[in-house]
Amino acid sequence: MDLFEWQAKELFAKHAVPTTRQVVVSTPEQARAAAEELGGGPVMVKAQVKTGGRGKAGGVKFAPDAAAAEEHARAILGMDIKGHTVHTVLVSEAADIGEEYYFSFLLDRANRAYLAMCSAEGGMEIEQLAVEKPDALARVPVDPVAGVDAAKAREIVEAGNLPAAVRDEAIDVVVKLWGVFTAEEATLVEVNPLVRTPDDRVLALDGKVTLDDNADFRHKDVHDAYRDNSATDPLEVRAKEKGLNYVKLDGVVGIIGNGAGLVMSTLDVVAYAGEKHGGVKPANFLDIGGGASAEVMANGLEIILSDPAVRSVFVNVFGGITACDAVANGIVQALQMLESRGESLTKPLVVRLDGNNAAEGRRILSEAAHPLVEQVDTMDGAADRVAELAHTTGSAA
Ligand code: GDP
Ligand code: MN
Repeated sequence: MDLFEWQAKELFAKHAVPTTRQVVVSTPEQARAAAEELGGGPVMVKAQVKTGGRGKAGGVKFAPDAAAAEEHARAILGMDIKGHTVHTVLVSEAADIGEEYYFSFLLDRANRAYLAMCSAEGGMEIEQLAVEKPDALARVPVDPVAGVDAAKAREIVEAGNLPAAVRDEAIDVVVKLWGVFTAEEATLVEVNPLVRTPDDRVLALDGKVTLDDNADFRHKDVHDAYRDNSATDPLEVRAKEKGLNYVKLDGVVGIIGNGAGLVMSTLDVVAYAGEKHGGVKPANFLDIGGGASAEVMANGLEIILSDPAVRSVFVNVFGGITACDAVANGIVQALQMLESRGESLTKPLVVRLDGNNAAEGRRILSEAAHPLVEQVDTMDGAADRVAELAHTTGSAA
């Protein structure tokens, strides 16, 4: 997850990285109030969008007083920066800048290590710096086990040619940024500019942080607080809330399976079968996992059936640790659960059960004889049938 600047700077402050005080707002009037709250002195008004180069695009403005902050916020809110609409602005104390430096920690996948990048020539975008002045940008590998202590931080700061007058201060900041990187489990922590003030303090004035989504369960508070769902598909948001592994796709055949590998191959088989049936395609990826209970099955079906694009649903289960009879009972209970929740079920379901206790599972479904449920015993046969149903209901509609 990429963070907004205000979120990145909030994490900096949490780990004692020196930065400027700030308030994030969404109206010009709030920007004025924020500037007053920060003391009424000069502030920066900064567009909060998840892209770089805001300064050049006119999304970062200096305001000498609260009235100017309001004016700048009025101009910046609603602005389009590289395809991102500005919905919020950050009002932060304006620092006096002596020099601008560049600093970052990132995950270096190719070398299976971390990398620190540092340069006394900050301000411009890193891609530009790397091209125009490659020698001015120090790249220092960081051993993930050894990490960054004061000695390592000194090596990085010296390689980046930060001036002696702020070296100790910069070393301290780099160690604290390493604290942000590791404690928050980030894959990127970038500060551009890291500035030297006229009185030789070092401050982080901009922050770009990417948190590792694979570690979100260890950082629920931070991830939940900072997640921005405005750009995410609403069904994916609901699925995430229910702990389901769901990805929205653009077809019309709903897919549920147990196990990521099985679901992936189900997508392929359905897409292939769809070629014979009007070109219908899978509407989603949904893996309900190995030990799927009736409740998980109900949640999964509910998400898929509430997708208006879905015309038919393929439930593809291979019984393993959770045997097919348990899954079949889960499907029956899930349908009852949905009906008792007041959902009116209208879309046909094709169920294929195979593997552990398949015969018993099929018997349970046959006995339940739900009018919307049809069983097909092979994966290819079921894919063909579900694609056909999607095509015919589509052309009837
Ligand atoms: P970006 O263009 O999206 O990277 O946005 P930045 O936050 O890096 O701001 C762009 C530029 O605005 C910086 O390089 C600084 O020159 C300037 N700037 C940002 N914050 C301050 C501040 O507190 N005081 C002053 N004087 N300039 C600032
Ligand atoms: Mn910047």
